[in-house]
Amino acid sequence: MPHDHGAFAQRSKVLVPWAIQRGLNPPTVVRGEGCFFIDREGKRYLDLTSGFVAMPLGHGHPKVVEAIRAQAGRLCWTPSSFFNDVRAQYAEALARIAPWSQGSDEGARVHFASGGAEANDDMIKIVRLVTRRPKILCAYRAYHGSTIGASALTGVDRWRDPFPNLPGIVRFFAPYPYRSPFHASTPEEETERALAHLETILSHEGALNVAAIVLEPVTGSSGLVVYPPGYLAGLRALCDKHGILLAFDEVMTGFGRTGKSFAAVRLGVTPDLLSFAKGASGSYVPLGGVLVREKVASFFDREYFDVGHTHAGHVLGVAAGLATLHVFEEEGLFERAITLETWLREGLEALRARHPRIVGDVRGLGALFALELVSDPARKTPLVPWHHAQGSEPMKAFYGELLRQGVHAYGRYNIVLVAPPLTIARHELELGLRALDGALSAASRASSP
Ligand code: PLP
Repeated sequence: MPHDHGAFAQRSKVLVPWAIQRGLNPPTVVRGEGCFFIDREGKRYLDLTSGFVAMPLGHGHPKVVEAIRAQAGRLCWTPSSFFNDVRAQYAEALARIAPWSQGSDEGARVHFASGGAEANDDMIKIVRLVTRRPKILCAYRAYHGSTIGASALTGVDRWRDPFPNLPGIVRFFAPYPYRSPFHASTPEEETERALAHLETILSHEGALNVAAIVLEPVTGSSGLVVYPPGYLAGLRALCDKHGILLAFDEVMTGFGRTGKSFAAVRLGVTPDLLSFAKGASGSYVPLGGVLVREKVASFFDREYFDVGHTHAGHVLGVAAGLATLHVFEEEGLFERAITLETWLREGLEALRARHPRIVGDVRGLGALFALELVSDPARKTPLVPWHHAQGSEPMKAFYGELLRQGVHAYGRYNIVLVAPPLTIARHELELGLRALDGALSAASRASSP
């Protein structure tokens, strides 16, 4: 087993992201097959969150693997300032599925990056270059990545604390119907108050100073919040009124996760630009970018586009992206999330019914769901407090039991994400739901006094 020694040597030398290093004991993954990954002992794990919601096709899709192999034999890399046939083809295909080509012929252009945070950093540059305005508004409950720029946009303290904030970043509260920051009692009231709150912020900050509002159209790992009806449309109207660009972070929601190419299409609200990564290439090769509507992109026909990277539009990345897009289309995977939505809602609501003391909320859309765990459902007391949950006994018991049963899911604090590959079969999902049932019992036991 040649990888054995290597895996262990590497294990002691790799700084594992987002973790205190001592005592870590995650599986050592050596192989992947569809919705499963396999550790060095041969144990199989069903991946209920597609890694970090990043593998819509699961592992080893033969068409993507073959496209990467063929491209590697022909050309692996060429400078991002050159033209390249596959890069051009992929950009063309992306523009076709982007929101500005759905019911409109405006079209879009793409700037490539290698991942989500890099794409968001570039999005900050683009909106500032285009508007020459200094401020950016973003939500407190948000995750945009861990580079300096993206973590400045991220509202959760822990990601930001030791780092300098970027000048001009202003935060606002977006709706969170389960724990309304506006003390609203209906979705309509939540939308109305959230938009009024944003108007107040704009009037204090000076709307003319604001380049963009940056938002995940469905908040991902910072709570999985689906905004109430009318909120995103209200944002669009506010942006139009004040000449502010609306920038969606679709790193998690893009590429079929919500049942359409992008959440903007599913939710019927068109931004001015959007960032993408993760699912774009099925995560087989790092790839991200920013799609920019033609009206905004054409600004750079006259002005200097002061953004770029050595690996922007890496040839293996765009080859993987193009093959992934073909698979999405051939296998109807954008739409498959609508079927998964029915299964997930049904399955997770059944879990809430079985564990009413600990499952406070089930929410999501498409193949992007979450369970919010509580210790007192009437008061909605979080099962573990935010910022301290990773080492907490109930969550350790929860994730420990899941792994013991051969299932992986990831989440943050008291919120567990359920976002399987779009290719998952019903019987595989049932397996995952049964394991969640056991894990909820384990968390319940661990939280009982
Ligand atoms: N934006 C969102 C919405 C994300 O979920 C993530 C990653 O989880 C990022 C940005 C950062 O992407 P990356 O980890 O590829 O830098």
